[in-house]
Amino acid sequence: MTHDDSHGVPPSPRARREADDGRDATNRLRPTAQRLLRDRWPALTGELRTALTAEREPALARQVDELVVVQPCGCGDGFCQSFYTAPRPNGPWGPGHRNVELDPPWRGLLILDVVGDRIVYVEVLNRPPLT
Ligand SMILES: [Zn+2]
Repeated sequence: MTHDDSHGVPPSPRARREADDGRDATNRLRPTAQRLLRDRWPALTGELRTALTAEREPALARQVDELVVVQPCGCGDGFCQSFYTAPRPNGPWGPGHRNVELDPPWRGLLILDVVGDRIVYVEVLNRPPLT
C-alpha cells in the first residue's frame, strides 16, 4: 500500500512557509502573477517605464517589471487611480523619501513616491481607466 509511505512524515518546510505567508499577508511581499503591475495593467506598465526613461531615472525604470500592486489608494475620488507598490506606512514615508513627477501620455498626473531607490506609491490622476 504505497500511500502508507507518507504516514507519520511531518509537513515539509516548504508547506509550513506557505502557511505562514497566508497568516501574515503584510509580512514579505511575493510578486505573484495576480499582483504584478505588468500583468494587471500592461499599458500603464509600458507608459510608466517610458516616462521614467524620459526622466532619466534608469534605476527606477528597471523596477517597473517587478512592481506589485499592494492596495489601491482608497481615497474614493473619481479621478484618482493611485495605488501602493509597497505596504502602506503608518504615517509619512520617512527618511529617504522623494517624489518623482513624470510626464505621462495622458492629460493628468503621474507622480511616484520613492523611498531609498524603491517605488512605493504610484499616483495616477485624471487618467482613463487603467489598462
Ligand atoms: Zn486617491
